Amino acid sequence: MNLILLGPPGAGKGTQAENLAKRRGLVQLSTGDMLRAAVKAGTPVGLEASAIMEAGGLVPDEVVIKIIAERIKEPDCVNGFILDGFPRTLKQAAALDELLGFQGKKLDAVIELKVDDNALAARIENRARETIAAGGVPRSDDNAEALKKRLMAYYRETAPLIGYYFAKGKLSCVDGMAPIPEVAAQLDDVLNSGVAP
Ligand code: AMP
Repeated sequence: MNLILLGPPGAGKGTQAENLAKRRGLVQLSTGDMLRAAVKAGTPVGLEASAIMEAGGLVPDEVVIKIIAERIKEPDCVNGFILDGFPRTLKQAAALDELLGFQGKKLDAVIELKVDDNALAARIENRARETIAAGGVPRSDDNAEALKKRLMAYYRETAPLIGYYFAKGKLSCVDGMAPIPEVAAQLDDVLNSGVAP
């Protein structure tokens, strides 16, 4: 089963993708995590992406498409994957269709986590606080200034994907404002309801 979780920054895609991947034996593919690892490792991709990410912008399509093209070929993806943070533009969505076609794979469902925009800033601040409390270093883009830009990028570039996947008959929605276990249960309901075979 190959899935996409869609939603603005702070919607809970990462948390839900991680839990769902464990429950269903799938692989979580987060381009944000992959890019942060590249930044940390100082690879050429990391060097290119670092400032863009910090400012809350989008890394060029070619860069992330290449990362995903290589990643979904890996043997651990054979039982299925959950894309979290990809695609983020219509160009990435078209490239994904093509990549899956080449590899004889298909997209089973796209699930939108619907959230109240007013809650996002508080969620992002909370994530940064929790990371610090746990002795970690918060994400450099988890601040009010970068969030504004990330939200703008979401509404300008990523939100059109909701219509794109609706038109393809792939889109389902869950209430991303519900507590974490409830959102997880709603995701299971969607997947068990026959939306995805
Ligand atoms: P995330 O962890 O998904 O919030 O992603 C963090 C940052 O990584 C984003 O704000 C972008 O700068 C970059 N990024 C992650 N995924 C993509 C993508 N699919 N396309 C472009 N930029 C991305």
